[in-house]
Amino acid sequence: MKNFSNYTDFDRKEDLHFESKVVHGALGTEPLTGAVSMPIFQAATFRHPALGESTGFAYSRLENPTRQELERTMAILEGGIRGFAFSSGQAANMAVFSLLNPGEHVILSDDIYGGTFRIIGDVFGKYGITHTYVDMSDLDEIKAAIRPNTKMLFVETPTNPMMKVADIRAVADLAKEIGALTVVDNTFLTPYFQKPLQLGADIVTHSSTKYLGGHNDTISGIVVVKESEELSQKIHMHIKSHGSQLAPLDSWLILRGIKTLAVRMDRHNENAQKLAAWLKTQPKVKKIYYVGFPEHKDYAVTKKQTMGFGGMISFTVDSFETVENILRKVDLIMFAESLGGTETLITYPTTQTHEDTPLAVKESLGITDCFLRMSVGIENVEDIIVDLDRALNG
Ligand SMILES: *Cc1c(COP(=O)(O)O)cnc(C)c1O
Repeated sequence: MKNFSNYTDFDRKEDLHFESKVVHGALGTEPLTGAVSMPIFQAATFRHPALGESTGFAYSRLENPTRQELERTMAILEGGIRGFAFSSGQAANMAVFSLLNPGEHVILSDDIYGGTFRIIGDVFGKYGITHTYVDMSDLDEIKAAIRPNTKMLFVETPTNPMMKVADIRAVADLAKEIGALTVVDNTFLTPYFQKPLQLGADIVTHSSTKYLGGHNDTISGIVVVKESEELSQKIHMHIKSHGSQLAPLDSWLILRGIKTLAVRMDRHNENAQKLAAWLKTQPKVKKIYYVGFPEHKDYAVTKKQTMGFGGMISFTVDSFETVENILRKVDLIMFAESLGGTETLITYPTTQTHEDTPLAVKESLGITDCFLRMSVGIENVEDIIVDLDRALNG
C-alpha cells in the first residue's frame, strides 16, 4: 500500500495572486490520481499499512482529505497557519468562544449576527463568561468597556445589519495592549476584500454558508488561526471533541464555491454599488446603510482596510405598509434569510436574523419595522432594479 505522504506537503502558492489561489487551492489536484477536482472522500475511517504506520488519516472526525483541502485553502487565502471547517458558522463561532475560560470577559460588536448573540448570551453566560456589546466603530467605547478580565475582542465588520465598520488594526492594537485575542468574523467581505490577519487579528471566522460557498446550498463555517500553534491545537481539540466538523460532500461544495470567489465578489460589489445609487433616487427609501457611500461615517476606514465594499445594503422605507408591499411583490428578488449567494435576497431583520435580539437593543440600533436588508446577487443589475422598482413603487 502506497502511503499518502504526498498529502503532507502542500504549496502555499505565495507567488500567486488571490484570483489564482482560489482556483488552485492547497494541493489543488488529488496527488495519487491527478483528479483535477479534489474528490469527495466519503469514508469514515482509513486503513493503516501496519502498526505504527499511517497514511496521515485515521478517522474523518479528526481529519478527512476533502475537508483538509478546504481547511488548507482557507489558511492560504486568509494568510494563517491553519484552517478548520465546521458544520456551520455557528459551530465555528462556538469553537472560538470556547477558548474563553469561566470568569473571563469578551467585548463584541453591538449589532452582531443574531446567532452569535445567542451563543454568547444563552450558551456561554451560564459558564461564567461575561460580555459587553459596544459600537466597535468607536474605539473609545471599546476602551471604556475593557475590564481586567477582558480576554477577547470579537469584531464583525461591516456589522450586520447596520453596516458599521471597525478599524481592525486599531482594535487589534488595543487587544494586544491588554493581552486579549482579536477575532474577526469576516463573513461579509471574505479575504478577497478584507484580510483581518494581516491587520493584526489573531483569528478569523466565517459563515462559509454565505460568500465562500456562494450558492445558498450548504451550511458551513470556517476558523483560521494566524500564527499560534497553541490556539490551533485548542481549536482542533474542540472540533475533535464536539464533532462539529464539516462533512466531505459539504467540504467539496465549499471548495467548489471558492474557485469562483473572486469573480463573484467583483460582481456582487459592482451590482451593490449600482443598486445603492438607485436606492438613493427613491422617494420611499428613507435611509441607506451602505459602506460604499463616501458619506458613510466610516468610509475612510473602509478605504484603508478593504479592497471592496461587498454586496450588502440595508435601508429603511417610509412605512411598514411599504415593507409588506415589497416583500409580497418581489419576484426575481427572493424574500429569504441569509446572504452571499448568487441570488439576490431581501431580508426583514427584525423578525428574521435578529428575531432574538432584545427589542430595546434593536430599537437603539435602528432595526425598526421599516428596516430591510439586501444581499445583492450576481444577476444582471438592471433586472434586480426593475424587480425592486415594481415591488417598491408598483
Ligand atoms: C450567517 C452568519 C453566521 C452564522 O452562520 P451559519 O452558517 O448560519 O451557522 C455568523 N456570522 C455571520 C456574520 C453570519 O452572517
